[in-house]
Amino acid sequence: MTNDNNAKQIGFADLGISGNLLKAAEGVGFVTPKPIQEKAIPAMLEKRDVLGIAQTGSGKTAAFSLPILSQIIALGTKRKPKTARALILCPTRELAVQIDDVVRELSRHAHLSTALVLGGVSRNSQVRRLAQGVDVLVATPGRLTDIVRSGELSLSETRWLVLDEADRMLDMGFINDVRRIARATHSERQTALFSATMPKEVEKLSESLLNNPLRVEIAKESTTAGEISQRLVMARTKQKRKILSDMLADEAMRSVIIFARTKHGADRVTRDLGRDGFEAAVIHGNKSQNARQRALNGFRDGSVRILVATDIAARGIDVPGISHVVNFDLPDQPESYVHRIGRTGRNGASGEAVTLCDPAEADKLKAVEKIIRMRLPLVADHTSEPDPAPRPAPANNGGERRNAQKPARAGDSRKPKPRHSAKPQAQQGEQRQSEGDKPVRRRRRTRGKRPGAHAA
Ligand code: AMP
Repeated sequence: MTNDNNAKQIGFADLGISGNLLKAAEGVGFVTPKPIQEKAIPAMLEKRDVLGIAQTGSGKTAAFSLPILSQIIALGTKRKPKTARALILCPTRELAVQIDDVVRELSRHAHLSTALVLGGVSRNSQVRRLAQGVDVLVATPGRLTDIVRSGELSLSETRWLVLDEADRMLDMGFINDVRRIARATHSERQTALFSATMPKEVEKLSESLLNNPLRVEIAKESTTAGEISQRLVMARTKQKRKILSDMLADEAMRSVIIFARTKHGADRVTRDLGRDGFEAAVIHGNKSQNARQRALNGFRDGSVRILVATDIAARGIDVPGISHVVNFDLPDQPESYVHRIGRTGRNGASGEAVTLCDPAEADKLKAVEKIIRMRLPLVADHTSEPDPAPRPAPANNGGERRNAQKPARAGDSRKPKPRHSAKPQAQQGEQRQSEGDKPVRRRRRTRGKRPGAHAA
């Protein structure tokens, strides 16, 4: 028996999508709308603003793209030079590329023009593409602000605005850019805002930008983690490398994404894995866009088994078939845990998420457990075991080496219990280091151009 025993299966045509768009949607296998599409598409076709609380994986890209494309098609093909009719703003380059792919697929029979504006790649070719005016522009805030400021694009004709992954855009310090960009768009615009979480700032932003929106909430991955088995391994930082390598020896870990909190940390994990005989690709904000895309493509096509990533770089990535997520360390923002583990267990597949937690990360663990409203099942505690034999360290060693020579600190809590007993000092040191992954752009900003002011 199939599960479609509810009277009638709704299709995209029932939601108001027709002609070339319907054909294109079916062409990419979108036949039955996902819940977010069922709700958002008719509302957006009726020109209503939408506030979507949903993550990547929910089908939100088509939920906002289809109704916007449908309305643009109805307008005809006349465009003003250096303008964009619709703007989809998102926090990271990878997500921008992904959205652009979907928009292009969906508009392939409709003769619409699309453009992608993001940092890390040639600016000139992007500006050239905008010269004739485009129907749909997908952009990250940094490069877009730059191009708008220089007068190479006007948003005055932009009547559709989508803010995707709004919470992450705010986390990344893009709030002012986002507000400025929104102000520059047409006063009679339709706006859709999507966010995985709804902290106060996002709520405030949506109140100021959306007009009586339809609120669509799709169950968070944190509450639908049934398909993702979550495990906790307590281990001191120095033990994590060996534990990780031992885990990866298991071939059941077919396709693994490893999260590190900082760019530096991601590089170190990748390097250590290489030394332990595991080839891994890495993506983070210091890698060129081409290198990041190459790593992602390899991961997507299966030629790369292990991908090491920072939160920001991995945000929104939709790679099907990831069997395992490993949190090499706990994220600074507990919400990131939900995004991280949501990389696996896609489309009904099962997945596993393993978190390696140093006792000094106990506060972060506590914050995560509060958000997911459960205690992570502890499957192993290595903290009372001795450190693995030390490796030769560089001459100007940092804090990590110094700590290695010290006897155990009281706050190290080597005993299995209690798990939540971190020393605040340790947390502070980590906090500072973690800022390597935050955009320095706010501080670095100068007038006009902002070198490196792109999504991570
Ligand atoms: P998104 O949240 O937009 O990144 O979409 C998550 C995944 O769902 C992507 O791999 C899409 O290709 C897929 N998807 C979106 N809508 C549908 C649909 N109606 N039917 C089947 N797959 C879909």
